[in-house]
Amino acid sequence: MNSKSRINLLSFVTTFLMILLAITVATNLFILDQLPLALIGSGFLSALLYAGYLCKSKGEYEKPAWIVSIVLGVLLYGLILDGKGTTGAYSLVLFFPIIIYPLLGLQKGNILYFIFGILVWFTTLYGTQNWGLHDPYLYLLNISLTLFVGGIVVYHAERISIDVVKAFHKSSITDPLTGLWNRKMSDDMLDRVTDESIRYEKNYSMILLDIDFFKKINDKYGHHVGDKILVEFAKIVQENTRKSDMLFRWGGEEFLIILPNTNAEGAATAADKILEKVRNHQYPEIKKGMTVSAGVAENTDRIDKDSFFQRVDKALYQAKDEGRDRYVLAN
Ligand code: GH3
Ligand code: MG
Ligand code: MG
Repeated sequence: MNSKSRINLLSFVTTFLMILLAITVATNLFILDQLPLALIGSGFLSALLYAGYLCKSKGEYEKPAWIVSIVLGVLLYGLILDGKGTTGAYSLVLFFPIIIYPLLGLQKGNILYFIFGILVWFTTLYGTQNWGLHDPYLYLLNISLTLFVGGIVVYHAERISIDVVKAFHKSSITDPLTGLWNRKMSDDMLDRVTDESIRYEKNYSMILLDIDFFKKINDKYGHHVGDKILVEFAKIVQENTRKSDMLFRWGGEEFLIILPNTNAEGAATAADKILEKVRNHQYPEIKKGMTVSAGVAENTDRIDKDSFFQRVDKALYQAKDEGRDRYVLAN
């Protein structure tokens, strides 16, 4: 489940429980004349109001999710206890993991479900001796199975849905050929790096690489060889950049490197090293070697990302004009 769906689920469950509790409090107070129950209900209602306030006004998620999950657990537990061995307990038991796993995530969901399960199980064990059931052992067996099997099924369903969302997200930001981040991701990262450079007053640099005469390789050896060369090229660049640098396949045979906290001099050294490695690499698929050109710039005046990119792109074109297999440092 993504964060937006989790927030939607949290506000839905909070609102649903608040309405339910408000009705319960009013009924206990005005119709059933049960002041203690009305007070307990009001306590839960206040906790939910606080969770709603944290979520809506403070933009918090973790704390309100815990509060709502615990209130839900206590209410369900109360209903199971009140049912004294009715079969409705099975659905109440199942309802809990269905809500809390998406809300809290797998690990925290496990902790809370474990506590809930232990409480329900011991209560049922006690209850089967005192509730005067027709077949107490069958009831205990059924509740145990519901707790155990239901928990496992819901846990796995949630895990699969998390994996699917992760895989979908990964494929949307990854280039399938080279495995590098794609252009969409470079846009997001540039936004972030630009914001951070303004906030912390630190410069970042950028290198835009474009393979020289790549079309010729495709024409001579075919597209599939071109693809292999691109993969090899991406590997060389990756091996010769720092962990803190970010590498993207920006276009067909164009690659972008963002170098946080790096000045022009550092970026130029990095570009020079990559150019040299590419120049000296022997590609088994092609006879001659291959070269790459680069535009390099440091965002000294912290201009917006699009203008900065244009500056780097211009430097790359200059490198091509000046004969390729070189880098040009934008001024
Ligand atoms: P220059 O030195 O001016 O950059 O010359 P170039 O031939 O590299 O430049 P141009 O932009 O004209 O050609 C880029 C080529 O890259 C054209 C296209 O066939 C090839 N290309 C782009 N994406 C892929 C890809 O995914 N696989 C393969 N095999 N080729 C690609
Ligand atoms: Mg190109
Ligand atoms: Mg090219």
